[in-house]
Amino acid sequence: MLNELRSIVQEVYASTDLESVLSIIVRRVKASMHTEVCSVYLRDQLGGFRLMATDGLNPSSVELVVLKLDEGLVGHVAAREEPINLDLAEDHPKYTYFPETGEERFSAFLGVPIIHQRTVMGVLVVQQAPKRKFDEGEEAFLVTMSAQLAGVIAHAEATGALRVFGPKESARFEGVSGSSGVSIGAGVVASPLADLNSVPFETCENTTDELAFFHTCLSAVRADIKKLGVTLESMLNKEERQLFEAYASMLDDTSLAQEVKLKITDGACASFAWSAVILEHVKTFSSMEDAYFRERASDIKDLGSRVLAYLQESTRKELVYPDQTILIGEDLTPSMLAEVPMDKLAGIVSVKGSSNSHIAILARSMGIPTVMGAVDLPFTRLSGKEMIVDGYRGNVYVDPDSALRTSYQAMLDEDKQLVAKLEGIKNLPSETKDGHHVALWVNTGLLADTMISLERGAQGVGLYRTEIPFMLRERFPSEKEQCKVYRDQLEAFAPYPVTMRTLDIGGDKALSYFPIEEDNPFLGWRGIRVTLDHPEIFLGQVRAMLKASEGLDNLRIMLPMVTNIDELDIARMLIDRAIEELKEEGFKIIPPDVGVMIEVPAAVFQVEAFAARVDFISVGSNDLTQYLLAVDRNNPRVADLYHSMHPSVLMALKAIVVGAHKQGVPVSICGELAGDPVGALLLMAMGYDILSMSATSLLKVKSLIRSVNLVDAKALLEEVIILPDTDAILRKLQHTLQSVGLEKIVRPSFH
Ligand code: PEP
Ligand code: MG
Repeated sequence: MLNELRSIVQEVYASTDLESVLSIIVRRVKASMHTEVCSVYLRDQLGGFRLMATDGLNPSSVELVVLKLDEGLVGHVAAREEPINLDLAEDHPKYTYFPETGEERFSAFLGVPIIHQRTVMGVLVVQQAPKRKFDEGEEAFLVTMSAQLAGVIAHAEATGALRVFGPKESARFEGVSGSSGVSIGAGVVASPLADLNSVPFETCENTTDELAFFHTCLSAVRADIKKLGVTLESMLNKEERQLFEAYASMLDDTSLAQEVKLKITDGACASFAWSAVILEHVKTFSSMEDAYFRERASDIKDLGSRVLAYLQESTRKELVYPDQTILIGEDLTPSMLAEVPMDKLAGIVSVKGSSNSHIAILARSMGIPTVMGAVDLPFTRLSGKEMIVDGYRGNVYVDPDSALRTSYQAMLDEDKQLVAKLEGIKNLPSETKDGHHVALWVNTGLLADTMISLERGAQGVGLYRTEIPFMLRERFPSEKEQCKVYRDQLEAFAPYPVTMRTLDIGGDKALSYFPIEEDNPFLGWRGIRVTLDHPEIFLGQVRAMLKASEGLDNLRIMLPMVTNIDELDIARMLIDRAIEELKEEGFKIIPPDVGVMIEVPAAVFQVEAFAARVDFISVGSNDLTQYLLAVDRNNPRVADLYHSMHPSVLMALKAIVVGAHKQGVPVSICGELAGDPVGALLLMAMGYDILSMSATSLLKVKSLIRSVNLVDAKALLEEVIILPDTDAILRKLQHTLQSVGLEKIVRPSFH
């Protein structure tokens, strides 16, 4: 049964349109369960459940039979959100007779709801003429099938929206907000070289030339493989040699080339045609029951990537970025962002990731409207398409109609006016009406956000993410190269302080040249754990920072992901060693302040012990939230559970300030909560000394701080921190802001 299940799901995954998905489901489920009928009903726009595919009922009734919620047995399954298993369907009070389906012949009925993200999308039904009860195993099979298929059906439905592309139709795709604001522009697909999944669809101009080019590339890979075979000959045994030959012969396989030829003749470019054919074959092989054949899928994939590399290498054109570029990709990286000229980057859409993924944080720091986790977006097909990115609601529209475009243009204009108005407070103090001052600093990492920070009048850097310059390179930067980058940063802000965090890789921050493969990367080798295991990397970095600060003396060093006191002790010892070495080498080094980030729950409970050993404490609320709530910050599926306004997070944040202040140590916060105006208000009320945020949030936060009294903020904090859940807290905050007329400043959704 398990094999059956896997094989059906694989076959379904291999098809791209809803119609074929449904027809596979009904045909295969009917066969596996040895029944006479299998049908799928899907919820339509009016909330009814419409027969969309059947194997066994009258095919002409497809799309005609519709049941309302709780109407008939199908509607009843949907309303109850539970399976219904009957041996004599016609005896059930909800039984409704539809002559057009020929249904009266079927007595046994088993229906299970198809539920995706808590919403009933449809009902999967099997039926049989003789009176019989489907047994527990069969019921479990259908329930499992339906749970597996729900996501695929949702994806196929969303993707199907693109088929109605036209001048008057806009297709909408949902994700989560990555960076607020809206933008209207043209799609540019960021596709890493030789990645079969991300090849953008393009048409070819001359079919004959394209076919010839395709065959040249095939021959080149064939030659490469032959050469490799000769080199390895003596090392391979007979079976391995045979395998190798079979591998090479796949390229001679005329059927593979034939399929590609058909697609090219239909107008697709060679790289798209090739990747589409290979992906289809990979899916077919992966779905095979025989383990040997299943494993061949990875051979095909490997071969596919080799040919694709040739196809792309020789056609690689300089990407042309339109004036309003919407950068789209499956899994965007900082270097892909950095490649787009800053003045042309209007919006970002990522299929993977969530609102606190690092790419979203970078987008926020540059003020680029961004949608993350748009999992159903057929992104390879969007090159050059007109798109709207709604970073407030987390929606993406493709081919918008004119009414939609006009309303978003109005929103864009309003946002611009708000930003222009805020410019006026750039040089005013960040002070409440009753005279409480709270320092507003910025988080930086890219050159672009450094520039914005200076323009917005930032008075310090609370977090310089040193891993970003590491991510923009193809190897570890040398001490000298690092020194230059750090010096630029320190000089740009001097005499204001710059807090440089030591390398924080792992989790969703990967270095292409230092891959970390783990099942559970956010609980794995991250941050200080990596650098303490590689003291040469840590020391090189700290030496570069110290040298860069010579004569400026505005450096602060901060340690990420610290969980144990001894990690801090060892890191401090290494920093002291670097200082001594440099002094011996003749540098004039003034020892910088050293601080620790509190972002692991264990550190919250030991905050006093940490505070006693450092010059400052800084809270990484992004990670602290993910670890306290056990919600992966990078996973769109649980995005609505990730919330820094959760009562437990607020209580932990308050406990940190109290503990650190007991030791007389200043506390800052550099997680995204600090850049949310309402979050900033609560943090100020808790006693945070410094709020460090994306540069684009700075003036909004300042504006709100300047509009309130500290006493009122403290009273509000006392009221919300005792509320039972996030929703209650958000409602209370919203209500309070509305009642004092400040809700305009905080339009972006709370994170
Ligand atoms: C944090 O975790 O809050 C933080 C500032 O660090 P990062 O987002 O880079 O992990
Ligand atoms: Mg962190």
